[in-house]
Amino acid sequence: MSAPPSVSNVLSFEDARRVVEQQAALIRASRLPANKTESVDLLAAADRVLSECITADRDLPPFPRSTRDGYAVRSPDLSQLPATLEVIGEIKAGEGLDRIPASIGPGQTVAIMTGAPVPAGADAVVMVEFTTLREKRVEVARSVVPGENVVPRGAEARHGSVLVDRGERLNQAAIALAASVGKSRLQVFKRPRVAVLTTGDEIVGVDATPGPTQIRNSNSYSLAVQIRRAGGEPALLPVAPDELHALRRLIEEGLQSDLLILTGGVSMGRYDLVEQALSELGAEFFFTGAKIQPGRPVVFGKCGAGGPVRDRPATYFFGLPGNPVSTMVTFELFARPMIEALSGESPRNLTFLHAWLKKEIRVKAGLKRFLPAILSGEFENSEVELVAWQGSGDIAATARANCYVVIPAAREHIPAGEWVAVMRLDC
Ligand code: AMP
Ligand code: MG
Repeated sequence: MSAPPSVSNVLSFEDARRVVEQQAALIRASRLPANKTESVDLLAAADRVLSECITADRDLPPFPRSTRDGYAVRSPDLSQLPATLEVIGEIKAGEGLDRIPASIGPGQTVAIMTGAPVPAGADAVVMVEFTTLREKRVEVARSVVPGENVVPRGAEARHGSVLVDRGERLNQAAIALAASVGKSRLQVFKRPRVAVLTTGDEIVGVDATPGPTQIRNSNSYSLAVQIRRAGGEPALLPVAPDELHALRRLIEEGLQSDLLILTGGVSMGRYDLVEQALSELGAEFFFTGAKIQPGRPVVFGKCGAGGPVRDRPATYFFGLPGNPVSTMVTFELFARPMIEALSGESPRNLTFLHAWLKKEIRVKAGLKRFLPAILSGEFENSEVELVAWQGSGDIAATARANCYVVIPAAREHIPAGEWVAVMRLDC
């Protein structure tokens, strides 16, 4: 058996992330053809990536808006308190223009509701709580500064200005903003197709009855979930055996997609053939390992392959270690940014929280660690504790966990009570 021809290139976590970000930037710069977009209903656009710009169809707010129920006043009228003003009308939210006084003069006021337009002449709103109405006159017990309780026309956005930029993933606020400017359909990027290729002679399908030394394929399913969450469309390939010819054929099939994610077969074992198969197909490797735990043997590269894929740009691939927790962690750290870039999304950082460590952790220095843990409490009372686990093959432990505690590579001892970084599993 010949060794893989590639030279081993194990990077620090930070360098490996940088390499991924560099490649993701190249994708963003080069691979966003306009025909990879589609028009969808406003609600179907939630969590998709915007491929157009949403602009303001008029000034926001379109009129000086009262933010309180009260009285629209000329602020100098309230320099002497209490002040008594003549009430010349009432303006409800949505009031017709014909019912709004053209202007209010000195000593005059109008009753006004939250969301209603402040009439010309008035420069502030005094809250109803500071007033007493007596027939057609109101006594005001508090002064206001100019502009108080009024949002000027166009203060939130000017007509024509960009509200949500191309490349933004659409959250509820962006959807609300689109609704507010009358966009009932939005142009979004199509989801990239991500092939998933699990490898291993011992792996059988979910519906199979495993033999005594076989295990069911779970990685394809965790990956499919993570790919969907990252914005991709998973395409599960048949399980590849630890045999070069069949493995190569399935890799070639996977390279037809926008991204190929393999699991298993990237460690040092005699039957870990993924790197060799990729090398034989002419792959370029950006790294063949990262100093992390779990997930050290992770591989990243790109491959044009022979035959039917020659006419397209090289396809990026990841070889993720087969241990289920390693597969999940390395996906989040490295594959997710590439799927986001292929989805047209602008770069974003890993999201993490902080929490107090409940029990000390002792590890060997040298690897940045992502250890399954349980986060409890909220905000300044957040606490985190490692789950007991049998190593990176222990899916049951990860299912009990709701986060990973992140330990910097240089640390050996994290005492209880330290404020540690935590990566959520579900975002
Ligand atoms: P490997 O990376 O191929 O050396 O596999 C490491 C460990 O992960 C082995 O115990 C495999 O049986 C297990 N494994 C590999 N692929 C899968 C999979 N698709 N689902 C569940 N476990 C797997
Ligand atoms: Mg294997």
